[in-house]
Amino acid sequence: MASVLIALGGNVGDVRATFRKAIAHICGIAQGALIARSSDYATPPWGDEAQDPFINACVEIETDLDPHALLFVLQKVEQKFGRTRDKERRWGPRTIDLDMIAYDDISLQKPDLTLPHPRLFERAFVLVPLAEIAPDRVISGIPVRDGLASVSTQGIERLPDTG
Ligand code: ATP
Ligand code: CA
Ligand code: CA
Repeated sequence: MASVLIALGGNVGDVRATFRKAIAHICGIAQGALIARSSDYATPPWGDEAQDPFINACVEIETDLDPHALLFVLQKVEQKFGRTRDKERRWGPRTIDLDMIAYDDISLQKPDLTLPHPRLFERAFVLVPLAEIAPDRVISGIPVRDGLASVSTQGIERLPDTG
């Protein structure tokens, strides 16, 4: 089984409900086990500030799917929950975005899949939830907790559990 870290984000609709359903779907389709799930966080928009705040979270799953098969599953789940990539602007509003942050220690540079995720260490909105579930994980040679220490977490708020 591979250990995979996935970042979730969204700012359209009932994002927290979408996350709950999407995580169940990912584990179901990928025949994976949910190993850890972070809290949800409200985060300022990144890359395109003229939009509503986002909600972000991270999960760790274990799966036997290879990286491309898992990417396909993530894209199917995005579509199922209303993601319409062709109508969106880059880093703009979306119901759900599922990014593979790391897949074991695999490094991959393909046109459709880069691992680990190339923009991880620029993004407090990923590092904050990731550090909650995997602070000691080393990605691209950097422990997640060190990555978190080197970014500003201003404006990021942990949301209370919904039970
Ligand atoms: P960013 O990648 O900067 O977070 P984004 O998530 O808004 O931007 P998308 O439109 O969701 O970008 O995805 C663009 C493409 O990124 C996808 O078609 C996918 O093939 C590719 N991609 C490359 N590496 C990854 C990865 N590690 N996880 C998910 N998608 C990836
Ligand atoms: Ca993304
Ligand atoms: Ca994405």
